[in-house]
Amino acid sequence: MSPFHRLLRINLTERSFRQEEIPSEIERAFVGGKGLGTAYLLTEVGADTDPFDPGNKLFFCPGALVGTLAPAACRYELVTVSPLTGLYLDCNAGGHYATALKASGHDMVVVEGAASSPTVVHVHDSEVDFLDADELWGCSIYETEMTLLQRLGQPGLRVASIGVAGENLVRFACIANDFSRQAARGGPGAVMGSKKLKAIAASGTHAVAIARPTEFIAAVDQALRQIADNPWVEGKRAHGTVGSLEPMYAVGAVPIRNFTASEAADMPSLALEEFEHRFAMRFACAMCPLSCSKGYRLLGDSSFGQGIEGPEYETVSMLGPNCNLYDPDAIAEANYLCNQLGLDTISAGATIGLVLQALDDGLLSPAQLDWPEQSLSRAEQVAALLEAIAKRRGIGDLLAEGALRAAQALDLEKLVPHVKGMELPAYDPRVSEGMALAFMTSDRGACHLRTWPLGRELSGELPRFGTAGKVDFVVQQQNDKAAEECLGVCQFPYGIGLLTDDLPRLLGAVTGQPWDCPALRTVGERIWNLSRVFNVRRGVSRRDDYLPERFSTQVPLQGPLAGRRVPRQLQEQMLDEYYALRGWSTHGIPLPSRLAQLGLGCIASASARLEMCH
Ligand code: SF4
Repeated sequence: MSPFHRLLRINLTERSFRQEEIPSEIERAFVGGKGLGTAYLLTEVGADTDPFDPGNKLFFCPGALVGTLAPAACRYELVTVSPLTGLYLDCNAGGHYATALKASGHDMVVVEGAASSPTVVHVHDSEVDFLDADELWGCSIYETEMTLLQRLGQPGLRVASIGVAGENLVRFACIANDFSRQAARGGPGAVMGSKKLKAIAASGTHAVAIARPTEFIAAVDQALRQIADNPWVEGKRAHGTVGSLEPMYAVGAVPIRNFTASEAADMPSLALEEFEHRFAMRFACAMCPLSCSKGYRLLGDSSFGQGIEGPEYETVSMLGPNCNLYDPDAIAEANYLCNQLGLDTISAGATIGLVLQALDDGLLSPAQLDWPEQSLSRAEQVAALLEAIAKRRGIGDLLAEGALRAAQALDLEKLVPHVKGMELPAYDPRVSEGMALAFMTSDRGACHLRTWPLGRELSGELPRFGTAGKVDFVVQQQNDKAAEECLGVCQFPYGIGLLTDDLPRLLGAVTGQPWDCPALRTVGERIWNLSRVFNVRRGVSRRDDYLPERFSTQVPLQGPLAGRRVPRQLQEQMLDEYYALRGWSTHGIPLPSRLAQLGLGCIASASARLEMCH
């Protein structure tokens, strides 16, 4: 559970702050990270609060194991109302920022209200400084972070900031920390922008006390051995996530040309060796034994001439093949632009891919888009659109609203790859029934991080096609992942699997309380129900849990997905089974009896009281 038992509440309107105790029963029920953020979001942000209203809040929640030697305990969860979907949002980011935030002596930092002019907040131990930031408004992420690191100069200081996209309320703007780590999806950067909050710098001197040190060291040792023995981990260390590109392409998962195809003649240009021989440096987040992140240098001439961390699998796929772009350096440059401007590369790639498909197919004319640069190469088009979106120039102003809103305005709604307004990540849902259900039921709209059944479907642990065993697996992994996201550990070293004994053993040694997998799983289920209650209050029900019609009616003509679709009837069948397993009504509404079993009778009631009861 959260070691300091307190949160820091920062009010930007009043330029004030105060500490509050976190009730012990809430800690026990929600542990930390995603759990704490979700419980406080539900009780403090109303169902009709607009994402850009000062009443929306940002909950920065370093996980319960952050600040300890637990392997890969490096992440904070950012919980808020998404500007992209208008629904529940949580994102997490690695790097070293969560450790710095935890060192300030808080288990959660709540940002509320809105500043009247650009502001930087500096949290250091129990103190908070409010700094005028007019000169930083308009700066890139990298400039902002460098400036604050030099200006504030405290040991261990880390910065989370937004770029121009966040300032301009782009609905898929990210929050970045440690230069290249992002809480990316769903637009949390735009919430910061709406509050005129350019950055939160954090540092401190608080150490996390370990209740049972000898047991903890043994638990760390055991976890490290498990990680070293996991055969899946070695591939991630060797190649990073970009190593997934070839196997995912082989099964048809990689989206091509706005999810319209499953093979592309130019794909060899993105072979693994193209990335490997540009490899320059390895990076690791705090306490990570895996070190999956790669530094990349460009070959030949480049307009920006610098190296970059990444690009990762999602970014390569969404800004590359999904936009019909097959030049590794051009994709890396687009990634760099997103990092500097503060854009989510997945939503950016999906939104631009949609528009470029419509242009290529003659569904949109350049004139309709006020598109002046008809002679640009595809790489230049992508770069120009990224700039236009971040700065809300020309057509970029419309695309900054996200793919769904833009498509509605351009009469292209049938082409949008999304669930609940969140653009699909880099897996075509026709690749497997498991991935389709993962996207349909994710708490923040289409997401591959809540559960990833494709791994089991490819390894043979689950049938490659069909639904047998998949609904059970999706429910269980959603619960397990939600629990994992309370702890602040990265899922990669732990193998993107289900919970193993390592994590409850670590948590038990840190807190001195008994934890096991079933207890953690119940925490995850509690969170999953609470986020659903939040979404239901915002109008979500069964009708929002389907894939777009195109994935049930249209089939790729060639490649591994030729003839594959996810029929509506199959979606109905999976949803029926999913709701029954969750204890929800056939409309997808959590039933009072299930909520009561989970102790959520008060917190999920109309009065949303921050207490556990049945
Ligand atoms: S596996 Fe990669 S993303 Fe995860 S903590 Fe390690 S370096 Fe960071």
